[in-house]
Amino acid sequence: MKAILTLLGTLVGFTGIYSLTFATLPETLPETLPETPPETHVLVFSRTVGFYHASIPSGLRALQQLGDEHGFSVDTTTNAAVFSDETLQKYQAVVFLNTTGDVLNTGQEEAFTQYIRMGGGYAGIHSASDTEYEWPWYGQLVGAYFVNHPSVQEASLSVVDPDHAATSHLPPVWTRTDEWYNLRYVNDDVNLLLTLDESTYLQTGGKPGTEYHPISWYHETGGGRAFYTALGHTEESYSEPAFLQHMLGGIRYAIGEEYKSDP
Ligand SMILES: [Zn+2]
Repeated sequence: MKAILTLLGTLVGFTGIYSLTFATLPETLPETLPETPPETHVLVFSRTVGFYHASIPSGLRALQQLGDEHGFSVDTTTNAAVFSDETLQKYQAVVFLNTTGDVLNTGQEEAFTQYIRMGGGYAGIHSASDTEYEWPWYGQLVGAYFVNHPSVQEASLSVVDPDHAATSHLPPVWTRTDEWYNLRYVNDDVNLLLTLDESTYLQTGGKPGTEYHPISWYHETGGGRAFYTALGHTEESYSEPAFLQHMLGGIRYAIGEEYKSDP
C-alpha cells in the first residue's frame, strides 16, 4: 500500500510538472498552423583557375546579406567537390560568382548538367562567362563567352525588358561604372534584359564598336533556368544598391520563385 501511495505521489508530481509546462502555451492554438515555406538554399561557387577578382570577398558578403534580407540561405564555396548529385539537390539555385577557367571535372560537370535537367537554377555573375570554355553545354547555359574588355569606366546600359525582377527597379538608361565585357555570343535563344551602349565609353581593346551589345539576359534551358549578367567586376558594385537588386532579381529567377516584377 505504501508503495502504491508513493507511486501515486510520483504521478501527481509529474502531473504537476506537466501542468506547469502546458500553462506556458497559449490557451487557444490556431486551428490550422501556418504552412512553413520550404527552405530556400542558394550555393555560391567562386572557384578561380584563371584570373582572380579582388571583389570576390565583397561579392560573397553581399550575397550573404541579400539572402538574410530576402529569405534564402547562402552557402559559399570554392570547392568543386560540392558538384555531386547528392549535394546539389539541396539547392534551388547555384551562383557562379566571378569564377574563371576550367573549374569542374567531367564528373562534376555531369552532376551539374543533371541538376539543371531536374529543374535547377543558375545565375552567372561577370567572369562566369570567362569559365569552362571547353564545355559547350556550359556555354549554352551562360549564353556567351568572355573575349576582352577595355579599362574600367562609366557607360550607359539600356533596359530592354523592364518587367523582370532583375531590371524593374532600373531607369530606362542606367549609367554606372564597371568593366565592360566584349562577349562571344553562343546562344541566341535568350531573353535580353540589358544592352550596353557602346557610344558611351571608349573601346581600347581593338574591337570595333558594335551597335548590338547584350550584357545581361535570362532563359529556360536544359530543363532549368539561367540568368547571366556581365556586370560585377568592381568591389564597389557589391555595395551599389541598383546592382545588388539586379543580381538579386537574377538569383530569384534562378530559384524559380519570382521573376516578374509586381504588377
Ligand atoms: Zn572583371
